[in-house]
Amino acid sequence: MKTIPEYFGSHVFNDEVMQKRLPKDIYKRLKAVLEEGGSLDLSVANVVANAMKDWAVGLGATHYTHWFQPMTGVTAEKHESFINPKDHSHVILEFSGKELIKGEPDASSFPNGGLRATFEARGYTTWDPTSFAFIKDQTLCIPTAFCSYDGSALDKKTPLLRSMEVINKQAMRIIKLFPDEGITHVTTTVGVEQEYFLVDKKLYEKRPDLVLTGRTLLGAKPTRGQEMEDHYFGMISPRVSAFMKEVDEELWKLGIFAKTEHKEVAPAQFELAPVFTTTNIAADHNQLTMEVLQKVADRHGFACLLHEKPFEGINGSGKHNNWSLTTNNGINLLEPGKTPQKNARFLLMLTAVIKAVDEYQGLLRVSVASAGNDHRLGANEAPPAVISIFLGDELTGILKAIENDADYQKDCEHSMTIGVDAIPQFPKDATDRNRTSPFAFTGNKFEFRMLGSSLSVSCPNYILNTIVAEAFRQFADYLEAGHDFEHDLHQLLKDTIKKHKRIIFNGNGYTDEWIAEAKERGLLNLAATPDAIPYYITDQNIALFTRHGIFSEAELKARDAIQYETYSKLIHIEAATMIRMVMQEIHPAVSEYEQALLQNEVFKAKIYQSHQKNQLLQELSELNEKLYSNTEALKNSLRQMEQADTKTAALFCRDHIIPQMNKVRECADSLEEITAKKYWPYPDYTDLLYHL
Ligand code: ADP
Ligand code: MG
Repeated sequence: MKTIPEYFGSHVFNDEVMQKRLPKDIYKRLKAVLEEGGSLDLSVANVVANAMKDWAVGLGATHYTHWFQPMTGVTAEKHESFINPKDHSHVILEFSGKELIKGEPDASSFPNGGLRATFEARGYTTWDPTSFAFIKDQTLCIPTAFCSYDGSALDKKTPLLRSMEVINKQAMRIIKLFPDEGITHVTTTVGVEQEYFLVDKKLYEKRPDLVLTGRTLLGAKPTRGQEMEDHYFGMISPRVSAFMKEVDEELWKLGIFAKTEHKEVAPAQFELAPVFTTTNIAADHNQLTMEVLQKVADRHGFACLLHEKPFEGINGSGKHNNWSLTTNNGINLLEPGKTPQKNARFLLMLTAVIKAVDEYQGLLRVSVASAGNDHRLGANEAPPAVISIFLGDELTGILKAIENDADYQKDCEHSMTIGVDAIPQFPKDATDRNRTSPFAFTGNKFEFRMLGSSLSVSCPNYILNTIVAEAFRQFADYLEAGHDFEHDLHQLLKDTIKKHKRIIFNGNGYTDEWIAEAKERGLLNLAATPDAIPYYITDQNIALFTRHGIFSEAELKARDAIQYETYSKLIHIEAATMIRMVMQEIHPAVSEYEQALLQNEVFKAKIYQSHQKNQLLQELSELNEKLYSNTEALKNSLRQMEQADTKTAALFCRDHIIPQMNKVRECADSLEEITAKKYWPYPDYTDLLYHL
């Protein structure tokens, strides 16, 4: 049997494989493009493609695909086999440089927000050589970007790659203001903690809501929830353990550094975290991780639920996006330094993030907005919908001292004046891990905690990269123009802290007091997705994205349109599924139970004796009537919504459809509690959550 180091990355066409399989000069030319940018000669691409094919065929691959990330949020692939006819009865296996570099999927089947003119349905996928090709399901997968005929981005990878160039460019301007440390390149790094639920596949298949929408639209609370707080880090059952082992193995083969697996707070909930890596690779890896989780779950008789809120009343699933800035020579720029100089640079980086988050709260909020995540944010389990930064008391104290030109006093022994020339050394803050903060500094990185579990991390990261790059740009403009660096730097820190400190909050984000205080501070509180979407295309944000070449105005408007569309389509599917479940199964089932009760001799006798309707029967029939009429009302509203344009429809969902769905659910869940289990058509919460 192979050891982990032996099979780690065995299905990845990585640097080691390239070095081994490519002629020296070809390898060099490919590396040059990877490191310095530029485009690859077709002659070079041909050799690379051929080597890739030989390697892949050797590992059992028969097909190749351009693997891309359209704006649906999931990945897409169109498989082509390597075979080419040689003559009437023979084939050869071929893969050309042209096929490696460019693909032409039909763009009309993917969301494009109006970017694709009807006369030109073609879209192009182009190889992203910075993310290694890999083999999955006997298919060689080439990570690609997806653009329309005129080069407009139709995917989530393109803006992410653009944003990484932008933050490198602006961060390097800051780096150059400090003594040379051999830094030539800055990149962002990301580690994604992924939460998910496992349910038994047989039970899952009996629930159309889970199958069609990923969450239970109905279901009475189980008599045991998470109140015993006994699930977090608890023992993992052998069945789940076998699943996790296989997930790790599959991920390791794909070169993904899966590291931690544990139980989460809710029953049947788990988390997987990899070791961090470069952002665009982390984004690819997270997409792959979600896919592997679902496939391996299926093999083990489970369904893996990635929905943000599969069960009402039980904690939902999120995704923590740990983000930092790293240099080519391995310096973490968000790690407090050992000397005042390095701490000055650290504080400059830190205040840039503070400024960025404060100025672009709306954008960060919209980057995590989805119908699914609306069930979490602000619901006392995930961070609130208000964005704030947790820094910890020590760092906050230091910033306060800088702002007020005061002595920084951590304890009586260490008291020093804060000037840039004498910024104190301070330990990495490992104390308070405030779990309620949406955006927390955790010692040497920021943890963005508002992401929903099914979200692609691309969008939050290209937004983070871009807004921080913008803060760097403004800082660099100011500092480059000055004469007295130390003085200017001090002034800049002071001014920035003064202006943006309102975004810093170290307290409990779940309380009503905080929401009230946040309002007083002028922070945004965008509760639902339709409230957040308009922030994509405010003047400030169009200016930001176009200035840095991340998006054109047309590309932004397309994304705005897609978000409205996705939101209302999803709610529509949910409402329609709910109506079906009620009309086809629940209403008839309850009626049947009523009938059975009526025919039951004991019941009959009782009713006869008391000359009145039995209490249970009365309750059943009243609730069932109410269920029916509420569902009819929902049906009518849905018809009304179908007439509206996407934006109006989205608002209609928020204001009418969702509240009406809640009403239907309330009746159905009450009925579930009083209907004999053998009549109830669906597995209940206890079945789903406690039978792994
Ligand atoms: P937790 O948040 O659960 O306490 P850790 O602090 O150990 O967990 O780390 C969570 C994630 O943060 C991991 O995926 C880890 O690789 C990632 N991480 C650690 N350092 C960095 C960094 N410099 N940049 C990005 N991610 C990082
Ligand atoms: Mg975490």
